Amino acid sequence: MCSARSSIGVEIAVDGGYVLVRRVFGEISGMPVGTHAQTRKEMSELGIHRPLVAGICGDRNGTESVVLSGGFEDDQDNGDEVVYTGQGGNSEQGGGGVQTANQQWTRGNAGLVRNWSQGWRVRLVRGARLGPPFAPSSGYRYDGLYRVDAYGEATGISGFKVCQYRLVRDDVMPAPWSVDQSGMGVTPPERRTVTIQRIVRSTTVADRVKKSHDYACQICGIRLEIPGGVSYAEAAHVRGLGAPHFGPDVEENILCLCPNHHVLFDSGALTINDDLILKGYKGRLRTSPEHPIEPSYLAYHREHAAKS
Ligand SMILES: [Zn+2]
Repeated sequence: MCSARSSIGVEIAVDGGYVLVRRVFGEISGMPVGTHAQTRKEMSELGIHRPLVAGICGDRNGTESVVLSGGFEDDQDNGDEVVYTGQGGNSEQGGGGVQTANQQWTRGNAGLVRNWSQGWRVRLVRGARLGPPFAPSSGYRYDGLYRVDAYGEATGISGFKVCQYRLVRDDVMPAPWSVDQSGMGVTPPERRTVTIQRIVRSTTVADRVKKSHDYACQICGIRLEIPGGVSYAEAAHVRGLGAPHFGPDVEENILCLCPNHHVLFDSGALTINDDLILKGYKGRLRTSPEHPIEPSYLAYHREHAAKS
């Protein structure tokens, strides 16, 4: 057992590829869209949004959930699409006052950038203070999963820099405000305390490959750094997944590439010999001792992608 930092959250102990984490991204089991809580404390006990005051539950490794409660003057709520302002610089902890300082790309703000780069969705909770037409009439309501569609810096109403995100609803369950007129939630569950400590896979296969190269492209060596202290790389399957190639989703069949070289590789403009000498780019494929590559997949790619 060793200590490591999971791609989805906190310091954790790794044991055989599985980790014990306190964090849960995505849906909380037994907590359907529309789940209502009268207080932030109840919402926290349900595991939907754990902090009692902060509007963002997350850190630079990712953000699990956000609360929209009218606390930030620069927020805009259009129901399925929200302009969400990050944390910090507000005269009231957790939002509610005016901005009195610049926000920084740290903590949960950086976490939302990581969600953007990884495609992780956040749970969104609305508070009654927002008012109609999207908020519950009292307390707090879980409104489903939203993806971080875009982010950037803006100058807010009070003249300070704010970190902003466009959150777009991405949930199979209908939005509560479209089906719920009572404001008390679609199916208020019996109140209960959930244990949110659970076993999840430490990282996806693709994440492990990217990490073993520290997000540097295996062709050109470039690591793309984006605001929020996040590095961006893409996982390219050597033998394509699904029809007609039916390649496996295993580390030996994945490369860590920058977007340009991902396109060139997928198109067959770049191929890799068994000795890892590149064709279509000078030099040799960059490797990591933690990341073996299976030559038969390279051969398959030379045979198929290069001819298409
Ligand atoms: Zn590259």
